[in-house]
Amino acid sequence: MTNLQSQSSVRSLTLGGVRFTYVVDGAMAFPPASFFPSIPPGEWTPDLLDERGLVPMSAGGLLVETGERRLLIDAGLGPMQGEAGGGLVNSGSLLDTLAVLGHDPSAVDLLALTHLHPDHVGWAGAFGRHAVAAAEWKATPEMASLAGADLLEDGDEVAPGVRAIVTPGHSPGHTSYLVTAGTERLLCFGDAFHHPLQLNHLAWGAGPDWHGDSVPAARRRLIDEMLVPGTVAFAFHFGDQPFGRVARAADGTITWNPFPSTVIAGPPRLLSQSSEPTGRSA
Ligand SMILES: [Zn+2]
Repeated sequence: MTNLQSQSSVRSLTLGGVRFTYVVDGAMAFPPASFFPSIPPGEWTPDLLDERGLVPMSAGGLLVETGERRLLIDAGLGPMQGEAGGGLVNSGSLLDTLAVLGHDPSAVDLLALTHLHPDHVGWAGAFGRHAVAAAEWKATPEMASLAGADLLEDGDEVAPGVRAIVTPGHSPGHTSYLVTAGTERLLCFGDAFHHPLQLNHLAWGAGPDWHGDSVPAARRRLIDEMLVPGTVAFAFHFGDQPFGRVARAADGTITWNPFPSTVIAGPPRLLSQSSEPTGRSA
């Protein structure tokens, strides 16, 4: 079964003839108090934390396969081990995971990026064609290597059946991708949410948010999309529960319900047992 206290396995599911696979690059974990400063400490029950008391968040890309067409959404963190961003990382397996799935980067027609933070662009240079929101691109001059990318606006179709939803907040041009799969849909919401706790508290941001005041409106729009019947959501950073559906109860409470997926392989990387991040509170 899935849980929120582990790194993600390489998981796959098929909806309406479209196959979705989390191409895991590696492991990340961050202290809840520093990464989620607005979430009350009492919310972090033991079932949400790993054995170090950290919040596990894998990094990677979502492979979307429709017939012979392949779209990859985001490109992981790239090779990195040790302390980073106040937490721990061990990453660099994305191309190996892709190989396990039988593909090399040349088989990917397009890399579509949700945003340009390091844990989403690590392997971007390995892919030939890129798409990113114009607003994200303009705000991130250090990503000159992506020159020539297709620049997206809200509502653009980035590939057949795949629509960009641009909602500034986590980053200047943060983009979710809504994939139509037969009569079903999948929403890859990027880093609009880092944890299911945020589904009921739209103002509970994350440390890396660019403009926290814009985050709640972005999330509201995405939750409305996720509540459309037949929609599955994909989360990069929800522990070992990357696929789920959201539901709203009569009292308005939103729940994250893991959606069945097939494990293709276990997590390609784990954090070392001995290391601890600096600044970890006792
Ligand atoms: Zn991220």
